Amino acid sequence: MKNQEQRSATIAAQAAGATDSATGGVVPGISLSTTYLRGPDYVPLRPDNIYGRDANDTVRQAEEVIRRLEGAAASLLFPSGMAAVAAVFRALPSGARVVMQNGIYWGTLKWVRDYCLRRAIILDEIDAAKPEALAEACRSSADMVWIETPSNPWLRTVDIAAASGVAHKSGAVLVVDGTAATPVLTRALDLGADLVMHSATKALNGHSDVLAGVLSCRDPGNPMWQEIATDRHDAGAIIGPFEAWLLMRGMRTLPLRVERMSANALAVAEYLAAHPRIETVYYPGLASHVGHEIARRQMQGGYGYLLSALVVGGRARALEVVGRLQLFHRATSLGGVESLVEHRHTIEPHTGIPENLIRLSVGIEAVEDLIADLAQALEG
Ligand SMILES: *Cc1c(COP(=O)(O)O)cnc(C)c1O
Repeated sequence: MKNQEQRSATIAAQAAGATDSATGGVVPGISLSTTYLRGPDYVPLRPDNIYGRDANDTVRQAEEVIRRLEGAAASLLFPSGMAAVAAVFRALPSGARVVMQNGIYWGTLKWVRDYCLRRAIILDEIDAAKPEALAEACRSSADMVWIETPSNPWLRTVDIAAASGVAHKSGAVLVVDGTAATPVLTRALDLGADLVMHSATKALNGHSDVLAGVLSCRDPGNPMWQEIATDRHDAGAIIGPFEAWLLMRGMRTLPLRVERMSANALAVAEYLAAHPRIETVYYPGLASHVGHEIARRQMQGGYGYLLSALVVGGRARALEVVGRLQLFHRATSLGGVESLVEHRHTIEPHTGIPENLIRLSVGIEAVEDLIADLAQALEG
């Protein structure tokens, strides 16, 4: 069977074919060496392995799993999602123009604003979920368009294929942060994105015990990709082999986890949407969601694990509900097997997040238990 014909579940479960050829182990070992041998003739035993900052077999194996899941030409791992974001922006020339979706992951927005100021990069923030706003921003030439779909914490949905059309017309590369979708639900490169980024800290690893980020590209000849690869190599934003190995272990169950998390999240969203103590639910799987039609077209097999809801009664009530939850851990982050709840306004008080917004990352627990926990917290 040709590799391309395998489904995500097969690629992930078998770690894209990685085994331990040295011991015959079904599971590959961790290659910890920072340097590699040369023979008496001073020729490297493996010409692709010279020094640990350049290359590592465990990192390559984890990258191969993601490359295959993404349908990408190449994938590169970074020590965190933010390191992957930074790697993309560092590849832009000074004076470049970037069109960026607003209301996305706060860590990205904050760093990008600071960086663009320092590098004299023109940053236009727009509501990319509105096609007219994106088209308008792309009427003048741009170097890069950055979108995040579904977005965190608003769950706004951007039509990747349409965004790719307008981005390319303006001469820009389209970069998609697909963290909340994962390559299991959305393959952004197939839809026309040039680069796709994920915080692998989230659902890709899925066990809240590894920090990692990843970039993948459709065309390895893309000059921006060349810059990114050279910069990672030369400047050393390298993930450790132990983290890469744990990530590969986590990803074996990625399609299974995403399927369960998405089913649970939809049930939780439907429950909350019908609850008198909830004002609004933001989840792309609900027919009432503004981005539902787009999500239906570009998300396959589920709508993801992330949702937000507005609690009737304002800040105090929202914090009360969060405080009463017993199964949902009160913690930031998302995409783990265990469900988390967050009061976003406490984390980013000055960005327009409503004070009664709670954000849920739904895990793989029995959904009846999750709903019972929400019921007692809302009714108490
Ligand atoms: C968490 C997150 C990031 C940043 O990733 P880290 O691994 O925490 O550095 C970027 N984008 C989105 C959508 C995220 O949720």
